Amino acid sequence: MNYEKLIENLTNRGFIAKIFDDENQMVEEMKKHIEKTESIGFGGSMTAAEINLTDKLLEEGYTVTTSKTTGLDYIEVARKNLNADVYVTSANAISMEGSLINIDGTGNRIGGTCFGPEKLFYVLGTNKVEETFEKALWRARNIAAPLNCKRLLRNTPCVKTGKCEDCNSPDRICRGFLVVERPLTRKTTYVYIIKKSLGL
Ligand code: SF4
Repeated sequence: MNYEKLIENLTNRGFIAKIFDDENQMVEEMKKHIEKTESIGFGGSMTAAEINLTDKLLEEGYTVTTSKTTGLDYIEVARKNLNADVYVTSANAISMEGSLINIDGTGNRIGGTCFGPEKLFYVLGTNKVEETFEKALWRARNIAAPLNCKRLLRNTPCVKTGKCEDCNSPDRICRGFLVVERPLTRKTTYVYIIKKSLGL
């Protein structure tokens, strides 16, 4: 995969895009664009969890809103994060043309990505990159969503078959799709890609 071309395509679309060899390089770059006084909200990201991003920022004195730092429950934190200064999340897939795709069940990730925080960071591994938009959509539906169902112990057919069955289960997590093709108006959007397999 030509990642330099991906960065070029993202840049041409108005994203601030960079690629890193590892998460430590990525965090150093991220820190240059966030004030310690700015509130940082996370939109459920296994990628961020895998690289311990919350702890890394907290250790450096950044203002991160989580259940642990506030004592609030998941939904209360999700609501609060819609008004954060900075939102950090990942994507289920990204196409080489530069479209970022997310599937959401609760809608908090889609909400925080679309509106509210004026700085948005997408952090993702190279495993999320697909050649075309169609392949990226397929990945989001057939790889990311079933793996998330498995992780969340959902009673959905994809947990058994390993691919999307377009179910009608009450446990279905695929309730909203968001495709971001350009940074949303009034939202400075960073796309940071790490040369590793991260997240689902
Ligand atoms: S629509 Fe249903 S079967 Fe398909 S991935 Fe989502 S939860 Fe699984």
